[in-house]
Amino acid sequence: MSPRRANPTAPVIFLDRDGTLIEDPGYLTDPEAVRLLPRVVSALRLMRHERFRLVLVTNQSAVARGYLSRNGLEIIHRRLKQVLRARGVTLDGWYYCPHHPEARCRCRKPEPGLLRRAARELGCSLKRTYSIGDRWSDVVMGQRVGGKGLLVLTGLGRKEWRQARKMKIWAPDAVVKDLYAAARWIIRAEKKRVQ
Ligand SMILES: [Mg+2]
Repeated sequence: MSPRRANPTAPVIFLDRDGTLIEDPGYLTDPEAVRLLPRVVSALRLMRHERFRLVLVTNQSAVARGYLSRNGLEIIHRRLKQVLRARGVTLDGWYYCPHHPEARCRCRKPEPGLLRRAARELGCSLKRTYSIGDRWSDVVMGQRVGGKGLLVLTGLGRKEWRQARKMKIWAPDAVVKDLYAAARWIIRAEKKRVQ
């Protein structure tokens, strides 16, 4: 059965890419430099086991900035898919915003344009969503569609969390060590919900 049809009522998990799934070297342009962060495979397996829908959402202004072509970005994503598939994991959807921050598009996080597109294309509802990432924009994007936003302390997460506590203009629903801890947090939240 395709994961698309496996469980239409499952929560949708929006996953950031850089600093959340893989190491963030700045602008990633080399497919050979794709490196999974620790416990990412276990986290994805765990969420798959729970039959969550897993959708990657990433800002890739490197395209608009001319550091990387769309094709180059597709090659990086193909590489990441291969790396994950080799470990027995697949994602339901892959979405990116290629625009420059100043383009004011509707798809650059924290704008939720890509979430709505994913929901439409994958045939899932945005009623129960969790967005996981290492930046404020990941958290806020998830909260803008009424879901929970989780901040991971990998990638830029620690720096973002320090700023969040100082500025107090955004607040994550949970701050967790890494993607695996995020998966555990969501599973607990889902269990509480059905009790
Ligand atoms: Mg990130």
